Amino acid sequence: MRYLILSDSHANREALEATLARAQGLWDEVLCLGDVVGYGADPNFCVEWTQENAKRCVRGNHDKACAGLDDLEWFNAAAKASAVWTQSVLSEPNIQWLRGLAKGPLIIENFQILHGSPLDEDEYLLQMHEARQLLGYLEVPLSFFGHTHVQGGFQLHRNGVIRIPPVPRDVERSECHLENDSFYLINPGSVGQPRDGDPRAAFATYDTQERLVTYYRVAYDITAAQKRIRSAGLPELLARRLGLGQ
Ligand code: ZN
Repeated sequence: MRYLILSDSHANREALEATLARAQGLWDEVLCLGDVVGYGADPNFCVEWTQENAKRCVRGNHDKACAGLDDLEWFNAAAKASAVWTQSVLSEPNIQWLRGLAKGPLIIENFQILHGSPLDEDEYLLQMHEARQLLGYLEVPLSFFGHTHVQGGFQLHRNGVIRIPPVPRDVERSECHLENDSFYLINPGSVGQPRDGDPRAAFATYDTQERLVTYYRVAYDITAAQKRIRSAGLPELLARRLGLGQ
């Protein structure tokens, strides 16, 4: 089975469409790691595509906030403004779909998908020591996570933790062959709002037979996405950061 793993699309239609065009023919099923909405200007499009095409999807913190499941006190000003705006434009069926999303982790075959950390859906998994601490708690050897918007992840080996880097800036894909004696925490990166310094949309595929994770980056029409954010009246910061990949 070949899975397309998408995370943090964040209502960015242009990035999602470019991702799907690039990923054409590379997958049998789609899995989604949450944060379908928030920040971007096309929440209904991203919800409807995900609803129709993703086999399984876990909820992200923005999905919860935009569906009214969480109060917004932990959000910064721009995130809060975008959640309020998103609530105002989402159709009722799309709000209901977001409300019904599962809390991760969800087990798929012999791996799992989740939004933040295997132990807490809202926690950020950024540092080597944070990954190392999970070693005793992982019930499956492979976990796909999102939330940080940083492509790559961690290989947990008995000799230590190895950081898996994002796709280098001058190429558009990189491979990670899974080894039998390690646990893996894999972040496909963010489709709609990358924060690892590379503004290209990020995603990954996982081939279960080959035990191969392939990371991708794809250029998309950032100017068009920025224009939509501005004309929706969303905070300027949300447009600007797309150009920076931050
Ligand atoms: Zn996110």
